[in-house]
Amino acid sequence: MISAAAARQFVLDAVRPLAPCALDLDEAFGCVAAEQVLARESIPGFANSSMDGFALHAEDTASGSARLTIVDAVMAGDVSRARLAAGQAVRIMTGAPLPDGADSVCPIEDVVVEDTSVHIARVVTKGACVRYPGDDVFEGQQLIAPGVALDAPAIAVLAGQGRTTVVAHRRPRVGVISTGNELARSSGPLAASQIRDTNRPLLLALVRESGCMAVDLGIAADTYDEIRQRLTDGLAICDAVISTGGVSVGDVDHVKNVIGELGGSSARSVQVAIKPGKPFAFGVVGPDHRPIFGLPGNPVSTRVGFELFVRPALRTLAGHAVIDRLRVPAVLDVTLARRSDAKLHLVHVWAEWGDDGVVHVRDTARQGSHLLHAIVGANAIALLPDGTAGAVGDLVELIVLDADRLARTA
Ligand code: AMP
Ligand code: MG
Repeated sequence: MISAAAARQFVLDAVRPLAPCALDLDEAFGCVAAEQVLARESIPGFANSSMDGFALHAEDTASGSARLTIVDAVMAGDVSRARLAAGQAVRIMTGAPLPDGADSVCPIEDVVVEDTSVHIARVVTKGACVRYPGDDVFEGQQLIAPGVALDAPAIAVLAGQGRTTVVAHRRPRVGVISTGNELARSSGPLAASQIRDTNRPLLLALVRESGCMAVDLGIAADTYDEIRQRLTDGLAICDAVISTGGVSVGDVDHVKNVIGELGGSSARSVQVAIKPGKPFAFGVVGPDHRPIFGLPGNPVSTRVGFELFVRPALRTLAGHAVIDRLRVPAVLDVTLARRSDAKLHLVHVWAEWGDDGVVHVRDTARQGSHLLHAIVGANAIALLPDGTAGAVGDLVELIVLDADRLARTA
């Protein structure tokens, strides 16, 4: 057996970020930038009002009470032709360019409008409520550095420069294959000994959740040739392929051998010291080192293998610097029983922030690598190193699967 850390390391040692290319901005959301973007335009490009109100000369209000003549009105998108003289004001809306001669804006809430004049009973400071050119961004400034994850504000900043594309690592295309003669090919009634394929939809969803494009490569029967063919076909159109089933020690567990053949010297078929998810096969294929992951068939094992080995690799392909999920310490409110077996146990749990400002494990899923239904809604995986059954009050480390659902709902 090898440790989870060692298995993760040989996977990560073999994968590299995909070559960058120009992506449309809407495609680029969630991807990682591979260029430095400098501002070619200052924002704002012109002095404008940050409030609805009146543009004026601050000096006119120096005494603390001023009555100014309204000479024009300017909306966002318009330009006022007025040139403000002393004692004059222009009605102005948020975002409208400051008229010539004005140096400040008094918000509408602070004035009394009387027909063609406006009364201001306070001192307005020069520059008040004015947004100056370059306040947000100045020309030549670095806006995006290579390696930055393109979140919603980053996409907006690029759009703010008139950009429609950005050079970034594209979203990896990740194929998913299930293997097993027992897997029903249709949604019709099950024959005796048949089961439904749950791992393929599970993995397709996990692939999407990790920010990649999922490609359904179907079900392969338990024959060496069919598995080889489907994996080869999948690798021709995908940046990575994940298969489930057939990596254990059963008589028809051919996947590990196929990965061994396709991956050559890069291939590994190992027993990882984790529960669930012990058998795991991996290799990279072809000149651009496309990874194949062979995960075990039991659904909870598949999930765990995806989290530990596949997800960090897919994030690496996508160019992310942060490839792991958030890990937090948590206090156990329940007992997490285990026996000593030299393995790291990974237990799906429900966790929540407590009033004490600490995360608490509130409940635990029924354990079993085949008990898929039991993990529905679990928002974290607790890590139980060998020998440490978790008692109430103990601290454990959690892999957070869904940070939104750590929040208290009450
Ligand atoms: P294997 O890893 O192929 O030995 O499969 C281990 C267990 O997982 C067996 O009980 C299989 O029937 C089950 N299994 C394998 N593939 C799937 C799948 N795609 N969906 C649901 N269960 C599966
Ligand atoms: Mg099988």
